[in-house]
Amino acid sequence: MSVTPAPEPTAAVLRMEAVRKSFGASPVLRDVDLEVAPHTVTVLIGASGSGKSTLLRCANLLEEVDDGAIWLEGEEITDPRADADAVRRRIGVVFQAYNLFPHLTVLQNITLAPRRVHGLSRPRAEAEARELLERLGLGEKADEYPDRLSGGQQQRAAIVRALAVRPRLLLLDEITAALDPELVGEVLGLVREVKEGGMTMVIATHEMAFAREVADQVCFLDAGVVLERGTPEEVFGAPRQERTRRFLRRIV
Ligand code: ADP
Ligand code: MG
Repeated sequence: MSVTPAPEPTAAVLRMEAVRKSFGASPVLRDVDLEVAPHTVTVLIGASGSGKSTLLRCANLLEEVDDGAIWLEGEEITDPRADADAVRRRIGVVFQAYNLFPHLTVLQNITLAPRRVHGLSRPRAEAEARELLERLGLGEKADEYPDRLSGGQQQRAAIVRALAVRPRLLLLDEITAALDPELVGEVLGLVREVKEGGMTMVIATHEMAFAREVADQVCFLDAGVVLERGTPEEVFGAPRQERTRRFLRRIV
């Protein structure tokens, strides 16, 4: 790591500085800088292959960066001495699909990490999980197996599971991409509620109307570069780069 591990003065929940990542000879992230303030939502947009998932995977240490540095709440997590498991315990992640264990009920899925990783007793973990499910509109699904739920309900349960460990940061990677269109709304509705609860999130999505509504910050990735960033009004309303304009014309 060539970047000096200076003490981190910012209050950002997540900060990336000059992050580079290649797969073989292909650069996938090229000098990515990112700053995510507490209780804000950052939305990553960009064509398929632009590096959104890789960025999220680097933030969660599922991928090792080649260069640059990443801080979580001021702690440099790309420091070789950082405890990757401890870092991941502070970050919730939901992917496009296959988030729940099929052989466990919703409740068992949700209480797994709180019990095993965080050492909560079963009654306490279950009480908290039921309360969270109730609050987020899935109370009656607690004892069902995932295959008895619609795709939208499964993704909502996956979000509840990610929240059950009280993460400091939630990463959502195209969580509606595999859903039938009529199920997208209920999942995005839950994300909206999670935002209202103050959760700090980084969201990769192709749902532009949703991005515009929920984002505090929008980053447009183009071939591994954050080509444009700003408020939704700036990026969607008055994009400065021709490539951003072209992307938005194509997708909206
Ligand atoms: P996005 O999420 O924006 O679609 P990704 O981060 O998934 O983009 O991928 C960016 C680029 O990196 C793509 O060209 C993809 O093929 C490549 N890539 C991603 N993961 C791997 C991997 N594990 N091995 C090799 N190439 C990868
Ligand atoms: Mg992706």
